[in-house]
Order: sequence, then C-alpha cells, then structure tokens
Amino acid sequence: MANRKNYQKILRNTLDLIDISHKPSLLLHACCGPCFTIPFKELAPFFKISVMYNNSNIYPEEEYYRRLKELKDYIGDVCPKVTLIEEPYDNATYMKDLLKYGNMAEGHERCRACFKKRLTAGFDYAESKGFDYYGTVMTISRYKNAEDINQIGEDLQKSHQKTKWLYADFKKDNGYEKSLLIIKEQDMYFQEYCGCIFSYQNHQNRKSKKQ
Ligand code: SF4
Repeated sequence: MANRKNYQKILRNTLDLIDISHKPSLLLHACCGPCFTIPFKELAPFFKISVMYNNSNIYPEEEYYRRLKELKDYIGDVCPKVTLIEEPYDNATYMKDLLKYGNMAEGHERCRACFKKRLTAGFDYAESKGFDYYGTVMTISRYKNAEDINQIGEDLQKSHQKTKWLYADFKKDNGYEKSLLIIKEQDMYFQEYCGCIFSYQNHQNRKSKKQ
C-alpha cells in the first residue's frame, strides 16, 4: 500500500516558509463554529484570514442558520476583525446532483461530491478576489477523510493558478480533542450529524432506536 501523505506536516512546512511580517491572505472555508476553533488558532499567526460559510448541504434550514450563528458568535468573541462571507442558503439546488447517490454512510462517494461542490465554489471565489491561499477546516472532523479533501484541493489547484491550496489535516496532533475543550469552555452548540438530509435522517433513526 502506498504511504499516506501527512497533510499536517505539509501544512507545517508551508507555515515555516511564511514571513509573518507580510502575512498572505487566506480564504478559509468553515462548516461550523466548532470545526473552526482549532484551525483558526493554528493559522491566525500566519495569515490574514477571511472566512467563508457556504454550506447549503445542511438540512433543515434552521440547522443551517444555527451553525452559522454559532460560527458568527465565536468569531465575534475571539476574532471580531475577521470578515465572514456568507453565501445564500439553497439546499434544493445544492442537493440536485447529490440525491442520486442515495443514503450512503458518511465517507463515501456522495461525500466526495459534496466536498468538491463546496470547495470548487470557495476556490473560485478565492481566486476571483485575489486571495493568496484557500483552504478548509473540515479535516478536523474524525469522520472526514483528509486524503479525499486534500486530493480534491490538489485537483482544483490545476485550474486555479493564482491561489494556492492550503494542505492540512487539523485532526492530527489531537486537533479534534483540543477543539472539544474549546467547545466545552465556550459552551458552543455542537451538531450531532454532518449536514445533509441523509445524515440528518440517519441521526434521527439512531436517536429513535436509543429511545
Ligand atoms: S454526510 Fe456530510 S459530507 Fe457527506 S454528503 Fe452529507 S453533508 Fe455532505
């Protein structure tokens, strides 16, 4: 089996080369407040960060706004100068080409298509606005495959010449566990399912079996 890449090591190497007296700009995709905590802490010393919330995968609509509010509140508390770019919620359009995959468990082809959709939109935006780097916080999740996410970023890099993909795997070095401490400290809302209607329904089924 081929050796897996250590994406967090690649991130460290990138950070080592940055001259912090001239911080490059980074557009950072965030799926929610909890997943944003540790990546922001790690990256803030090196980049001028703007955050993008484009997550129309989330179902139902109230949940989309609940996660957005949690992210906004955290930014307001910890880094109020950071710009948050919010994309309009449009779950029906977003899900059109994902419904064909049906109810697969998280981590399969549907998820790769879902990552690609959001990362493509974010990368396009980052390049159109002249950001030096584009990346996502999603690799902090224990359920999200860093290989899949970084491979998508690497593929998108080929058609985005002006903005660099920021490789990372934020769950490494106990990133996920560290984020749990912040979530507890800040009393943050931490969702129990990934986002789309399939993950929502699976979560509801698990809950009803426990009752
Ligand atoms: S489980 Fe999460 S990553 Fe997978 S398709 Fe649903 S929202 Fe997207």
